[in-house]
Amino acid sequence: EKVEAEWEQIKNSPTRLTFEEIDRVKGYFTEPAYESLQDATDTLSQQRFENKEFDRWLTHNVGEHKKPGYAIVTLTLKKTGTPPGDLTDRQLEQIADLADEYSFGEARATHEQNMVLADVRQDRLFELWQSITGMGFATANLNTLTDMICCPGGDYCALANAKSIPVADAIQRQFDDLDYLYDLGPIDLNISGCMNACGHHHVGHIGILGVDKKGAEFYQVSLGGSSQHDANIGKILGPSFAREDMPAVVSKIIDVFVENRTEEETFLDTYRRVGLKPFKERVYA
Ligand code: SF4
Repeated sequence: EKVEAEWEQIKNSPTRLTFEEIDRVKGYFTEPAYESLQDATDTLSQQRFENKEFDRWLTHNVGEHKKPGYAIVTLTLKKTGTPPGDLTDRQLEQIADLADEYSFGEARATHEQNMVLADVRQDRLFELWQSITGMGFATANLNTLTDMICCPGGDYCALANAKSIPVADAIQRQFDDLDYLYDLGPIDLNISGCMNACGHHHVGHIGILGVDKKGAEFYQVSLGGSSQHDANIGKILGPSFAREDMPAVVSKIIDVFVENRTEEETFLDTYRRVGLKPFKERVYA
């Protein structure tokens, strides 16, 4: 009742969002000057047939575009051995040049800590892929376990309870096999160095949170979070772990998934079907 009463008071106030206001704001988001192009899927098929690496990249890091002849390219910043989402000043310059050359001068940063060139001509994808391979932006692991979100943690952030980057690094090295990652399918692994949750650990399919236990760094694991339309907060698996245990903990979680999944299930599907118990039993056995 209180909410309804308050709504009665404010619903027609000057802060009401009108369709006119929405149209006014929309006016700032104009389309780039797209060319009228033919779909280039046939040419791409030939190129991907001739080059397996290009085929992998196209399958995993390139998305469909609403305009014929264009594609959406994600420049991944998740190469094993580099902190997730990190760029040097030189790499930022390179991305600015790529945006000018291939995508109407626009590059977008994603909350998953990658960069996107949203409007790339399909007939220039092979050339773009060749350029970015040497720059470190073509790791074809988008949406896999190693495409993780990781906050700066104790290496750089004064608020941290624990370091995040060494945990990400150890997991990247443990799972540095693209074919295995593809077999596992889409998995969101998110790491935060404290409860401020800049790494979105609550909504990771696998979430890792740095905690302080009597002055020492530990890590709490949660499972089943999701930031998609079926949003969920993950459930805490149990007592926290030492840093050196984390790669083994993640491996055991993945093993339980692999042993229990049906052919068409993703990690999240399996977790939702079998629940926390089998994961908990394996990890704390
Ligand atoms: S989650 Fe905590 S440690 Fe990580 S960046 Fe945010 S405030 Fe810093």
